[in-house]
Amino acid sequence: MNTISYWEQQGFGTADWVVVGAGLVGLQSASRIKETYPKVRVVVLDEHAMGNAASLRNAGFACFGSAGEMLDEIARTNELEAVGLYEKRFLGIQKLLGRYGADRIGFQASGGTEVFSTDDEAGLVIAQVSALNKALCGVHGKDAFVVCDMIPTKMNVVKSGVFCPLEGGIQTHLLYRAVREEALRLGVEIYEGMRVADWDETNDFVELHMGNGMKIIAGRLVICTNGFTRRLIPDLAVAPARGQVFVTKAMDVLPFEGIFHADKGYIYFRELGGHRILIGGGRNLDFVGEETMDMVVTDQFRSHLKSYLETVVLPGRTVEFEYEWSGVMGMNENRNPIIGWHSNRVCLAVRMGGMGVALSSWVADEVIEVVKKDLGV
Ligand SMILES: Cc1cc2nc3c(=O)[nH]c(=O)nc-3n(C[C@H](O)[C@H](O)[C@H](O)COP(=O)(O)OP(=O)(O)OC[C@H]3O[C@@H](n4cnc5c(N)ncnc54)[C@H](O)[C@@H]3O)c2cc1C
Repeated sequence: MNTISYWEQQGFGTADWVVVGAGLVGLQSASRIKETYPKVRVVVLDEHAMGNAASLRNAGFACFGSAGEMLDEIARTNELEAVGLYEKRFLGIQKLLGRYGADRIGFQASGGTEVFSTDDEAGLVIAQVSALNKALCGVHGKDAFVVCDMIPTKMNVVKSGVFCPLEGGIQTHLLYRAVREEALRLGVEIYEGMRVADWDETNDFVELHMGNGMKIIAGRLVICTNGFTRRLIPDLAVAPARGQVFVTKAMDVLPFEGIFHADKGYIYFRELGGHRILIGGGRNLDFVGEETMDMVVTDQFRSHLKSYLETVVLPGRTVEFEYEWSGVMGMNENRNPIIGWHSNRVCLAVRMGGMGVALSSWVADEVIEVVKKDLGV
């Protein structure tokens, strides 16, 4: 017996555009489509409430790639790809700030700092700072990296770190709220609790089938499911990558502020308001085990990151966590996003490579360029 009401199905019915995924990328892509074509019906579908996957589960770093991370990226791809990706992230943050405003998204221009645990690691990165600055100066006309003194932070790290003056922190919930409000204001319809199971594409439309038995006919589809994309398109080069995050209880005044990177960007931490520290990452401990969509936290990562805080960040202090969660990123050796037509009526905007906060506004602008080119307007 069909338990879907006539009214539910009528209300759902048809749309000119359906965007799958109400994360930062899906919502901003939907906004750009609706802004460009105000008369069309744009519907966003998400299986979870509040963009459960990554957009409300990240660390809120407005970052583009620390020096160590850039060198790692160059080793995995090449300098051209790595600089191109850095530029997309940098432009993405500028677009976010321009579109929503620094205050509204809680942006703090604190800068970011990369810390090192061994002299060898520090030496390798610091030796490349001026070459990296040269490679990146075309992006923003300033030095991306400056060697800095870590002693005032009282961390148990090598005394020289690398400061990234252009980075900062955002308040993730404020950014998500601003992006969602914009979509609603423009007239985008957002439906949660809608898991897209699959679709059939014809010459004229796409028929999407939900896990709950409902269906919707769309003129065109944009897939913004990032780390979950393999469930819909199994052979696409986007692997799920879980990121685990922990937030301490409130502590005494901390001897540092801002955002920090360590271990080629695999570990990240920041001071949150209220003297708490957010710490996350460590995926390089177990790449295979973390290639999962299962959003749990594990004892292995909890104790690894707790120990890092107690021995490196706040040496000699005991920390207790009050919050812990995980989210799923869309990853590949090449962390450049995939944006473009997958078929005649299905467009992709996926694979944010772990920095989709930074990339999201840039990606949404690319989506609308792809759409305009296809529609000829
Ligand atoms: C722990 C962690 C820390 C991070 N820290 C940072 C950071 O500091 N800075 C930074 O720039 N980036 C960071 N990121 C990455 C950033 O959060 C993501 O790249 C970004 O949020 C991706 O946005 P998105 O919209 O592409 O995907 P998501 O936010 O993952 O949204 C995808 C949506 O698709 C929905 N969905 C999936 N499949 C279906 C389906 N079949 N039907 C319906 N809905 C579906 C999901 O429910 C989800 O809401 C972090 C990520 C994690 C996990």
